[in-house]
Amino acid sequence: MDNSNHTHKINKILVANRGEIALRVMRSAREMGIKTVAIFSEADRNALHVKYADEAVCVGPPPSSESYLQMDKIIQVCHDLKVDAIHPGYGFLSENAVFAKKVTDAGIIFIGPSPEAIEVMGSKLAAKDAVSKYDIPMVPGTPKAITDVGAAKQRAEEIGYPILIKASAGGGGKGMRIVENAAEFEEQMNRAVSEAVSAFGDGAVFIEKYITSPKHIEIQVLGDTHGNIVHLFERECSIQRRHQKVIEEAPSAVVTPEIRRAMGEAAVNVARACNYYGAGTVEFIADENLNFYFLEMNTRLQVEHPVTEQITGVDLVKEQIKIAQGEVLSIKQDDLQIQGHSLEVRVYAEDPKNNFLPDIGKLTTYQRPQGAGVRVDDGFEQGMDVPIYYDPMIAKLVTFGKDRTQAIERMLRAIEEYQIVGIETTLGFCSYVLQHESFVSGKFDTNFVNKYFKPEVLDAHDLNEEAQQDEEKVAAALVNFLLEHKKDNNKPAQQATTTKSNWRKNRV
Ligand code: ADP
Repeated sequence: MDNSNHTHKINKILVANRGEIALRVMRSAREMGIKTVAIFSEADRNALHVKYADEAVCVGPPPSSESYLQMDKIIQVCHDLKVDAIHPGYGFLSENAVFAKKVTDAGIIFIGPSPEAIEVMGSKLAAKDAVSKYDIPMVPGTPKAITDVGAAKQRAEEIGYPILIKASAGGGGKGMRIVENAAEFEEQMNRAVSEAVSAFGDGAVFIEKYITSPKHIEIQVLGDTHGNIVHLFERECSIQRRHQKVIEEAPSAVVTPEIRRAMGEAAVNVARACNYYGAGTVEFIADENLNFYFLEMNTRLQVEHPVTEQITGVDLVKEQIKIAQGEVLSIKQDDLQIQGHSLEVRVYAEDPKNNFLPDIGKLTTYQRPQGAGVRVDDGFEQGMDVPIYYDPMIAKLVTFGKDRTQAIERMLRAIEEYQIVGIETTLGFCSYVLQHESFVSGKFDTNFVNKYFKPEVLDAHDLNEEAQQDEEKVAAALVNFLLEHKKDNNKPAQQATTTKSNWRKNRV
């Protein structure tokens, strides 16, 4: 940790990413008077982040392994263009300790935590070990990699089934196996180890109690290089499909001020345990009684960071940049307050009626919603293709309201306004979730999609819309009739147009 008061002004940032997050980072840099450099693959030549940046360099062919993940090439671009700092966004190289070290060794500032913190938190077991000095609640389980299957089975018996076998190096919802009873323990264990070896090159696995109705709640933290750490409250991310988030909100509808304080303190301690600086997220799992347990720490900016920005008024990217410049955090814990409610829906190019399989194609119509309390972070324009090579997220639609009800109402209105034709998206699915009584009550968990969602519910949704359209057609015909009638009576003629847009028909 750097305890000196040196600050190093950043003049030019290279964003080692693409799409909405590259644009989002560049916008904050521009507001701070910092020049920006985009990198892009051959598939992204016409992408918005390339147009937005002050300079842009092609780093290779479409597959990310040949472009966005090319560490040495990216560092060379920094030398060539006199770049002082790299922002990695999320995904790609953002949690790669080797990259963070290479960047720092090349004399370039890495806008993120130290390589050591990335490394420790990149391993679930090392993370548990690092935080063990602090009083952080953990899911009952084994604290170390399992070497003796008999002893592990004994432990599983003590904890009580079902239990979860997890790969220490796992991520992105992969490398987990549920074991329902003792009879299947050995077999599942063998499978878990061989899967961990082939997927992550590391066979270390451990066990955890399987929380049957879990809520995924995470805390945003910010730390500087002088040892100051604050938390910016929670985000509720329990609406997931395939262990991946689709709708997030801040604050959670069910977290009380006492639980918030306790989770915040635990998160700050997790950050302290690895001398964390920069923006980070501490993830917890909570059971139906809101007992919460530490899951892992993500050592980067999260996709869902905008909901925290909306409720706190803090620009997290600007804070990341100021921390990387060596500045002392200007925010004190007591200054932070929750100022309203915010929701984010992830607009994926996926077909909810077909098991959320990615869909690709051209955005023949693409019109963003507007109006009070609406923020759209995206990287596309009408006429652009959604490429097959990368994450199928088109946009993040974020709303803000004085309370949860207003944020939900605004989101439903914004989803209605959003016009996307040419590909299937998760918008209709999100609209269904937001109106579901379980979501509205706040009493939902990560099983929501499995429990309540069937493709047919979207058909029912479409039928309702069609019925509504029919009613609108009848109303329009009536207006026409009345106006015609007026004309017959030699009253001044009025324009009898039906201005209703056909978004309902076109929306996918
Ligand atoms: P990853 O690194 O793959 O994201 P996490 O440990 O963050 O793995 O878990 C991802 C998701 O898996 C959580 O959001 C939750 O839905 C589920 N999960 C993880 N641990 C447990 C557990 N002990 N019991 C029940 N569900 C769990």
